[in-house]
Amino acid sequence: MSNSNSESQSQAEAIPRKKIKRASKWQDEWKRYNMCVSRRGPTFVHCCICGTDFSVASGGVNEVKRHAQGKRHTERAQQTSSQASIATMFQKDVDSVRHKTTAAEVYFASFIAEHNLHCISFLQQAF
Ligand SMILES: [Zn+2]
Repeated sequence: MSNSNSESQSQAEAIPRKKIKRASKWQDEWKRYNMCVSRRGPTFVHCCICGTDFSVASGGVNEVKRHAQGKRHTERAQQTSSQASIATMFQKDVDSVRHKTTAAEVYFASFIAEHNLHCISFLQQAF
């Protein structure tokens, strides 16, 4: 009995164990590289700057860093940094007098409609 046990141990030592490879998956900390989850699966990453998907299964964060240093990514990053943000385009309109006037008219009209006021004669005199 002990003889068969020693044979199984010797066979286990003779067969080299295969190194188990684990595929890297999405990490939330990669958002700081402007990456997000890809539709292709958890082993892929979507670059928000380039709009490309690439695999991180074998390289993990090293693949993300290598992509961020790539030619296409750096060119796109420079282009997007020179563009004005869409938030600044809306910011200009918010502060304008025209926008405030429109907002006041909407508030006044909604007040009249909400309280069911009949003030047509008053409005004709006012305007
Ligand atoms: Zn990119």
